[in-house]
Amino acid sequence: EFHPLDEKMRKSAELFDQAKKVIPGGVTANIKYIDPHPIVMEKAEGSKLYDVDQNEYIDYLLSYGALIHGHGHQSVYEAVMTQMQEAGTTIFGTPHKLETTMAEKLISLYPGMEMVRYTNSGLEATLLALRVAKAYTGKSKIAKFEGHYHGGYDQVLLSVNPDHEKAGETVKPNPVPESLGLPEYYQENTIILPFNDFPSTEKILRANSAQISAIIMEPVQGGFIPAEEEFMKSLRSLTEELGILLILDEVKTGFRLSLGGAQMVYGIEPDLTALGKVLGGGFPVGAIGGSKKIMEILAPDGGKDILTAGAENQHKHHALFHSGTYNGHPTVLAAGLATIELLENEDTMDDLFAKTKSLRDQLEELYSRYGISMQTIGLGSIFNIILAEGEIKNYRDMAKVDSSLRKEIDYELLKLGVYTKPLNRYSLSTAHTEKDIARTVEAHEQAIRTVQNC
Ligand code: PMP
Repeated sequence: EFHPLDEKMRKSAELFDQAKKVIPGGVTANIKYIDPHPIVMEKAEGSKLYDVDQNEYIDYLLSYGALIHGHGHQSVYEAVMTQMQEAGTTIFGTPHKLETTMAEKLISLYPGMEMVRYTNSGLEATLLALRVAKAYTGKSKIAKFEGHYHGGYDQVLLSVNPDHEKAGETVKPNPVPESLGLPEYYQENTIILPFNDFPSTEKILRANSAQISAIIMEPVQGGFIPAEEEFMKSLRSLTEELGILLILDEVKTGFRLSLGGAQMVYGIEPDLTALGKVLGGGFPVGAIGGSKKIMEILAPDGGKDILTAGAENQHKHHALFHSGTYNGHPTVLAAGLATIELLENEDTMDDLFAKTKSLRDQLEELYSRYGISMQTIGLGSIFNIILAEGEIKNYRDMAKVDSSLRKEIDYELLKLGVYTKPLNRYSLSTAHTEKDIARTVEAHEQAIRTVQNC
């Protein structure tokens, strides 16, 4: 009756079958599905996940990059326990000290930040940043790049057709909604731009600048396709010239490219930054930060004195609305602060990068030994494996890559105890060891031999 991915994953298959009856598709987020069934986990420690059948996996998903110190790091655990014990509660529902402590920390690390507000996810952070930008500029449209992810809500679930023939010219892309249930009026307010293509981006922006409040972008698309330095710098100058706010979505790159995110590495100051993932130390979190001038629009009086002429009429009687029962959750912030403190230890980040580079180098060497076209791309502690030659600089380049062999290898890797969702990127943590890396390279070799029958 059950068709487990592997005989040793029977319980996972059974539990998934049960879940499917009460949860659509058996998953709590579409992306968590793996065909024929996801692997159901029940324990974790450091760099390892253990499933319900007691199989062990080296975890390269790390909850989509959030767990930069791996599972159950002692300092993070202790910070959480101490916070709850001392507070006598999980949450106050009122202001508390850690909110300011964390805000001060973020401001000291992120060049573009003078003030901070918290949310409960990365999605909420980008959503809030866009609302702030619209209120501040008095303009209603936004621009985003093809294939960039900012959370699954209506105005940003828009890309181009992955079929190259149907994607349209880069200066005149054919937008396609990325979900059912998206009324056209949302999409009409979103303009699509080609990533790492400044001439086309500039043309589109100049033609629409009067309507565009902000550009939102992942500085490193999907966590692994970096913005070219020149592209980022040119975009910063152009947006300044055109009165368009630049929002850097650093949900993935924050605390991963550097303690001060991608903005530190690229040497640019965005108008607004969205954070999430690592910031919560494994708990749900998000935050936005920006200059005092812009962020004060979030003050209880709506920052009426700083509104531009257009926005003034729009918001005469209303402050900019931002709320959330769990915003600035003390337990979450305690975990986040402990996580950041660990990253501040000398050499921690460098060691993590060196470990990541070592894995990438060894994998590249291995695939080349087997005559397979392969490159790893990424920055810092996240990378992806592309089984193709040629430069990958945006969504359209990725869409052209034939992923069939990679997929076959990824399924073998799951059976061999290397956990990455098929075709997903690799995130590393400070808990990953040299032994994990060696085992991962061995597993790749075995997977290649299996799929190539050699
Ligand atoms: N922006 C980026 C760049 C992300 O990677 C993600 C999550 N993958 C989000 C926003 C949304 O964050 P969350 O899943 O916490 O809502």
